[in-house]
Amino acid sequence: MIFSIHGYRHCFQVAHPGSPVTVERYTRYREPVYLHCPIHGEVKASSAANVLLATHACPKCGEEASQATSYPSPENEGHKRRLSDSVLQRRMAKSSTPDCFDVHRDPSDPLFALFICPRHGPQKVRIGALVCGCVLCRKDRNQAKREAKQQMASSRTKIRK
Ligand SMILES: [Zn+2]
Ligand SMILES: [Zn+2]
Repeated sequence: MIFSIHGYRHCFQVAHPGSPVTVERYTRYREPVYLHCPIHGEVKASSAANVLLATHACPKCGEEASQATSYPSPENEGHKRRLSDSVLQRRMAKSSTPDCFDVHRDPSDPLFALFICPRHGPQKVRIGALVCGCVLCRKDRNQAKREAKQQMASSRTKIRK
């Protein structure tokens, strides 16, 4: 979870690399967030979490884009898919497991990305969750943290004895 505007801005940049949209005011992950779009000025997004998952950082830009591209030609589709794969790769490169490779959109499930983790093999994650990298690696890290804490706790009790 993200608690500070600083942390949120970082995730925002990972989710929308090179976006001219900036984060103006942030309270909580599930609360509205205020953005500044060069086209639309100050824009309120209903959920800071959704902004990270959306294709467009600015919800108004997203609305306009979805209206404009309601009938995409097959050629445009192919072009878009190639572009988004490189975006997915970039997101993975900035995640906590940048060594995962072969990142691409799942052809049968466009909300998901497929990639290969050098430790866990082929993986499938939600595209919005790519910024967190391999889910199994994260579980391993959390597990290691828990064990370290327990060890610290037990060594403390030993010292007391
Ligand atoms: Zn906009
Ligand atoms: Zn992994």
